[in-house]
Amino acid sequence: MGKVGFGVAVGIAVVTCVVAAAVVGKRVKSRRKWMRVVALLNEFEEACATPVTRLRQVVDAMAVEMHAGLASEGGSKLKMLLTSVDKLPNGSEKGIYYALHLGGTNFRVLRVQLGGRTSGIIRHDVERKPIPEDLMTSTSEDLFDFIATSLKEFVEKEDNKDSDCFSVRRRELGFTFSFPVKQTSVSSGILMKWTKGFLIRDMVGKDVCECLQQAFTKKGLAMHVAALVNDTVGTLALGHYNDEDTVAAVIIGTGTNACYLERADAIIKSQGLPTSSGGMVVNMEWGNFWSSHLPRTSYDIELDAESPNPNDQGFEKMISGMYLGEIMRRVILRMSQESDILGPVSSSLRETFALRTPLMAAMHEDESPDLFKVARILNEVLGIPDVPLKVRKLVVNICDVVTQRAARLAAAGIVGILKKIGRDGSGGVASSRSKITSTKLRRSVVAVEGGLYANYRIFREYLNEAVAEILGEECAPFVVLNPTEDGAGIGAALLAATYSSSDTVDT
Ligand code: ADP
Ligand code: MG
Repeated sequence: MGKVGFGVAVGIAVVTCVVAAAVVGKRVKSRRKWMRVVALLNEFEEACATPVTRLRQVVDAMAVEMHAGLASEGGSKLKMLLTSVDKLPNGSEKGIYYALHLGGTNFRVLRVQLGGRTSGIIRHDVERKPIPEDLMTSTSEDLFDFIATSLKEFVEKEDNKDSDCFSVRRRELGFTFSFPVKQTSVSSGILMKWTKGFLIRDMVGKDVCECLQQAFTKKGLAMHVAALVNDTVGTLALGHYNDEDTVAAVIIGTGTNACYLERADAIIKSQGLPTSSGGMVVNMEWGNFWSSHLPRTSYDIELDAESPNPNDQGFEKMISGMYLGEIMRRVILRMSQESDILGPVSSSLRETFALRTPLMAAMHEDESPDLFKVARILNEVLGIPDVPLKVRKLVVNICDVVTQRAARLAAAGIVGILKKIGRDGSGGVASSRSKITSTKLRRSVVAVEGGLYANYRIFREYLNEAVAEILGEECAPFVVLNPTEDGAGIGAALLAATYSSSDTVDT
């Protein structure tokens, strides 16, 4: 080989080595980045862990906080609001009743026809309407005029369909108003504060039913507000109507809350409470529950700090549909910032609430072998294109961690309620978990409603499994979770029937 040939050969060898080193270097670097992402997932998973021992601590904390909230006003982060509802529908109710539901995603108007013990709910009609956004921050008069007009149109339409209704002199209505209210009777209550994007300052401190009743009078609508209830109370009413062993109701939708039937003598902050049944429904406002046993991560802390209501609704922010997608977005954003495995950080990924929980559920429940939906949602919603399969799988893992924690914590909350009323097989708050013979256990039903529970199968399965796991095999068969639909509205109509004045005319 000549000198030139030798030189060329050496040159080629050097170039090959450099290229090989670069390839190896890139692989090492990319492997390191992948390892970083995996480490972030592992850290997150560990911080979210909910072994049954921890869940039992949450159960105990919930029962203790419930006790504290019942002992004195402001005694706990749980408000434990008294609802004045001291009897629940039992199936004997008859006639046509109406309901309005304000405080969910849509405003709803309902008409329910009840046939008594033999026929039950003969039919129910629901009309859903979005609340025009400007009315959410306008005046109480504008808002209630809109509601009264919608109801009047609905009543007239239904009357035209069903000519029997003309015999009705005065109609009875249940009003589901899912905002914190200080109840002054079953059909009156003062608005304490607005939530969920509503802000009508002249309403705070006013009687909600009076405002509604005035609007009816103005529109010439002969309708009497017989019951003012929270959505959880409506759900409990429907649950109890369907099954008299129903002792509590939980809503897991955009937000989360629960109510249950408490003994009047356990409501220490209101001794001598006049009740016809010796019990009263308590609206827990459990979204605001907090305990140091809740597994909180840096993502939760940041989400809370940047929210419009920091230090508020801590339990809700770990559990409900409004937040799960947002927690997930924050995890993906962090991964994207610490590694280029997801490409450059997109502007959509930086946008708060860019990933809604139903889309997160769709990724989680993607059963296609190449996780086609995961790739599509990452691309179309978060602006992350061409995600390789192993990263798609990792994204599904994040969904699983977020959802599993939420469902298991909600389950612990439910068992906490059962514990408070002595239905968890442990003998109540004061005693330790002692073995109890199954003859002492009573069947307990919890009505569960809300879009997250109803539509997110994996969430629902995790929750159901966790309730059974916490209770243990002896007690679990006695506890039934009963999904309800439109309970918040139908239940309000049922309560209007339970509480309506005796001069109502049955049709
Ligand atoms: P609201 O709580 O507003 O009264 P819903 O009970 O219907 O209304 O709950 C709606 C919420 O449920 C949505 O905001 C969303 O977070 C959640 N949700 C609805 N559908 C799904 C779904 N398919 N998967 C996961 N979450 C869902
Ligand atoms: Mg709702």
